[in-house]
Amino acid sequence: AKEQGRNTYQFYTEGMQDREVMRLELDKDLSQALANDEFVLFYQPQLNLQTGEINSVEALIRWQHPRRGLLAPIEFIPLAEESGRITEIGRWVVLAACRQLANWRGTACEQLRIAVNLSGRELDDESLVEHVRDALLSEEVDPSMLEVELTEEIFIQNIEHNLNQLSRLHQLGVHLAIDDFGVGYSSLGYLRDFPVDLLKIDRSFITDVTERHDDAVITRAVINLAHNLGIQVVAEGVETEEQLNFLKTHRCNLAQGYLISRPIPAEDLETALAEGILF
Ligand code: C2E
Ligand code: CA
Ligand code: CA
Repeated sequence: AKEQGRNTYQFYTEGMQDREVMRLELDKDLSQALANDEFVLFYQPQLNLQTGEINSVEALIRWQHPRRGLLAPIEFIPLAEESGRITEIGRWVVLAACRQLANWRGTACEQLRIAVNLSGRELDDESLVEHVRDALLSEEVDPSMLEVELTEEIFIQNIEHNLNQLSRLHQLGVHLAIDDFGVGYSSLGYLRDFPVDLLKIDRSFITDVTERHDDAVITRAVINLAHNLGIQVVAEGVETEEQLNFLKTHRCNLAQGYLISRPIPAEDLETALAEGILF
């Protein structure tokens, strides 16, 4: 196998070698990142379309890299998923979110719930649920203030295992959201089998929802389907007033996107909410 590895290597172009070196270096840096406290959560508000209030935010990870500056998740999460480091990162994310909920007590952000992203790979971790429970307990946070977002990939593989994990999380009182809804390859049956509280309609349906008839039809159908199943709906990637009006008209529950706010640091969110200057 070693021989083969060496032979294969010869066929790499220089560009590929550069990328491989970059990847290895980034993976090494990633192993230090937690110890050096280099991750940070940004928060993107979700607008409640019925009340006009902000009651929830999505936590999106950033990496304050010592040399490369602020890195977006796309630049390191796929790598962390490959190497398995995502498990540790996910634990950090859950704990950081619970700490934030605790810190927000008594501030203008007190009523905010936090949704964190978990990749399918993180569900593989047998002690995930214990970890979430411990984080909630240690920070004395009401479990219903925490939400986890998972993509439809978890309904394709390891279904039994994932169902078990999600049921246990749900029993704790944590809410479950399906992220990027409508772009996965899974069947709809899981909406019946899994304890789903929210669906997040993928941005690709929202972008042209006011221009393209088919996107409008799909979005309305998803909202109706979800509501008939007792599931709330979040629209992702809302960038225009027209999209917002469409979503209000069709009784979508929550809207998230640049129109309302980009993901911002916790301090900025606190200031914005305290001063009532958010959307
Ligand atoms: P996602 O969960 O679908 O998050 C939404 C992404 O869309 C975010 O990118 C957000 O900044 C961006 N976005 C929000 N509103 C708009 C809009 O109006 N227009 C446009 N064009 N984009 C918008 P971000 O922060 O770069 O995150 C990318 C992905 O990285 C996330 O997609 C999620 O899959 C993953 N991710 C983020 N944080 C975590 C984490 O803590 N753990 C894990 N496992 N994955 C994470
Ligand atoms: Ca998400
Ligand atoms: Ca999404």
